[in-house]
Amino acid sequence: MSENWKPRTRAVHAGTRRSQYGEMSEALFLTQGFVYESAAAAEARFLASGPDEFVYARYGNPTVAMFESRIADLEGAEDAFATASGMAAVSGALMAMLRAGDHVVSSRALFGSCLYVLEEVLTRYGVEVSFVDGTDLGQWRAAVRPGQTRAVFLETLSNPTLELIDLEAVCHIAHAAGALVLVDNVFVTPVFSRALAQGADVVIYSATKHIDGQGRCLGGVILGTRDFIRKTVEPYMKHTGGAMSPFNAWVMLKGLETLDLRVRAQAAGALAVARALQGDARLSRVIYPHLPGHPQHDLALRSMETGGTILSLDLGADKAATFRFLDALRIFRITNNLGDSKSLVTHPATTTHQRLPDDQKAALGITPGLVRLSIGLEDPEDLIADLKGALDAV
Ligand SMILES: *Cc1c(COP(=O)(O)O)cnc(C)c1O
Repeated sequence: MSENWKPRTRAVHAGTRRSQYGEMSEALFLTQGFVYESAAAAEARFLASGPDEFVYARYGNPTVAMFESRIADLEGAEDAFATASGMAAVSGALMAMLRAGDHVVSSRALFGSCLYVLEEVLTRYGVEVSFVDGTDLGQWRAAVRPGQTRAVFLETLSNPTLELIDLEAVCHIAHAAGALVLVDNVFVTPVFSRALAQGADVVIYSATKHIDGQGRCLGGVILGTRDFIRKTVEPYMKHTGGAMSPFNAWVMLKGLETLDLRVRAQAAGALAVARALQGDARLSRVIYPHLPGHPQHDLALRSMETGGTILSLDLGADKAATFRFLDALRIFRITNNLGDSKSLVTHPATTTHQRLPDDQKAALGITPGLVRLSIGLEDPEDLIADLKGALDAV
């Protein structure tokens, strides 16, 4: 957008393309292909297509392009490529830029599928990956190899223990070694993200989470410079097939319009819940970045406008007692998703992190009593009462 509009205005208007009908709401172009006026026009478009010219939906589609322009505008990125899921974005960005012999440094506290891509997939193709404790800058410094480390990968806010990584400091270390910094920023959301300003080169979202925000569609997006998106990401993605469907792009595009309102209300709810449970004798820990007890509270205040929509509780209990708590909840639904308008609860030790060996679970703070809450749009008072009632049932 050329205008100096604020994010909420841009979330509603940026990237809109209108057809010859002048439709009010963004059109859903549910089409795989495009027809050409003549054989010569087809030839010309295959040679080079203009901004309003499309060839095939695996390469691009008007509805998908509207979503890409709108989110790029909100994130302050030059360009974006929308993908079929968050994992298509993570794996696509990495596979598109890396080759055998390259070295990658990554934080260890990652979403399980991200860990799989880095640990099991990239290494199969001759990419060497070193894992570090992302909160320890000394480990980042020791792990990067000037000239050989091509990429640094991290999640700014870790799942499920909500540890923060000092992105600005990691970017300095990575850039000094000549590496690009790729950030999976799902937990921070596009509304609270300052990743590009803090020095990140590539920002990745699973749109499945807060961008959809109502638990309907899968999607993802890679954001970066025009050069990176069009010369590195696009050729890889368009030939390997991880494109976002036009229908999902339309849902995500409309999701962006209300994203700011939703995540601010959800973050306010999360803070209210965290404050109400802090100090409850039935809990051994309440983990929320904007609570004074968080180990990186100062960094959280400095780098995040709110504490986000997720908090974690440790009941300090065994699995059976923790299951009694989960089963007694009446508003919070047991699931493994997050960022929804409905409040959700996850037991990481037996679901999302089930496959990790016990020593790794312990190292990541994933105890039998740990539960992750994704705060939705319900009234925080009802959520607090639900949690306290379930604690009574333990
Ligand atoms: C959910 C999630 C992903 C994967 O997204 P999908 O849309 O499920 O493929 C990647 N990283 C993080 C941090 C996530 O929370």
